[in-house]
Amino acid sequence: MKKRTGGLLVGCLAIVLFTAILCGGCVGDKTSAQGSGSAAGDLPSAQKDIYAMDTYMSVTAYGKQAGQAVSDAEAEIDRLDQLLSATRTDSEIAMANAGNTVKLSEDTITILKRAKELNIQTNGMFDITLYPLLCEWGFPTQEYQIPSDKKLRKLKKTTGWDKVTIHTKKKTKTLELQEGTEIDLGGIAKGYLADQLKEIMEKDGISSALISLGSSTIQLIGSKPDGSDWNVAVQDPTDTTNYLGVLHVSDCVVDTSGNYERWFEQDGRRYWHILNPKTGKPSRSGLSSVTIVGEDGMTGDALSTALFVMGLEDASEYWRSHSNDFEAIFVEDDGTISITAGLQECFTSDYDYNVISE
Ligand code: ADP
Ligand code: MG
Repeated sequence: MKKRTGGLLVGCLAIVLFTAILCGGCVGDKTSAQGSGSAAGDLPSAQKDIYAMDTYMSVTAYGKQAGQAVSDAEAEIDRLDQLLSATRTDSEIAMANAGNTVKLSEDTITILKRAKELNIQTNGMFDITLYPLLCEWGFPTQEYQIPSDKKLRKLKKTTGWDKVTIHTKKKTKTLELQEGTEIDLGGIAKGYLADQLKEIMEKDGISSALISLGSSTIQLIGSKPDGSDWNVAVQDPTDTTNYLGVLHVSDCVVDTSGNYERWFEQDGRRYWHILNPKTGKPSRSGLSSVTIVGEDGMTGDALSTALFVMGLEDASEYWRSHSNDFEAIFVEDDGTISITAGLQECFTSDYDYNVISE
């Protein structure tokens, strides 16, 4: 990664807050959730910080019904956190993981259906059945350890979609997992939440909103209240205080998976939370982060994870065969940045970068 001359990043860094990806448009626009104040001309705005799904989220909406929209969004975040979490014992997913046959909600059915499609499309690289492996590594509890190869081989036998059965009886669907199999929607739930929140904002008549579901999923509704694009800074995986460039985008979801989000170090080697389903170990594909820009949150969330595991070459091929669906930014371990062709007009950086063409 060679630094270009010029000072673009300096300007962007001045507006950095605290997230891996930052939306410049929201900085300084914060008001209370009741929100009648306005940094957007006469447009009322409302903002709320929420802790859910193990992460700090923030919802900012602009428009007459901004206060209502933000409280509707908060209720939806709480509802889905309760429903989808693998760590809360009362969630649908945790009940299934505990060996129960569980009656599925519409939400879970929708997610499982899409997760299965994406599992097939990514040749198994997106796999929601890795939970026993993730637990063995200690990622959900943060009680980290390096499992033995023997243990990994044993646990890998519990993974795979063939261990997941969805029964349909009249209008009711139930989920049954083979003994030992456990699922976790950590790689797709925030994307689904982003999609749901978009619907809520639209129902509440909001045409400009910025929703950060932790730094890894950012839903951008419309454009900034002044009509300009949102600015989303893309984090440098090797130095989380630095930013590699800025996306200037509207009306899309930006999803990032990176090896800096959750990790531990042992004997000088880092181990992170995105596993290669083939090895059961943290994925070492040569990529440090993948950012997906697209319209569908679930797809972006799952693909950022799956393409991270694939590595640059296979991920580029995947994009070529699905280039109508999304664009991407890849950062390799040595810092090399590559963007897909569709982002050329909306990505600016102080660094050199490659453009992947069709
Ligand atoms: P983040 O949780 O930081 O937003 P991701 O969207 O990449 O990052 O999701 C990573 C999470 O997905 C992990 O914490 C784990 O729960 C789950 N996961 C890890 N590896 C995979 C994989 N290969 N396929 C599907 N889910 C995975
Ligand atoms: Mg993901």
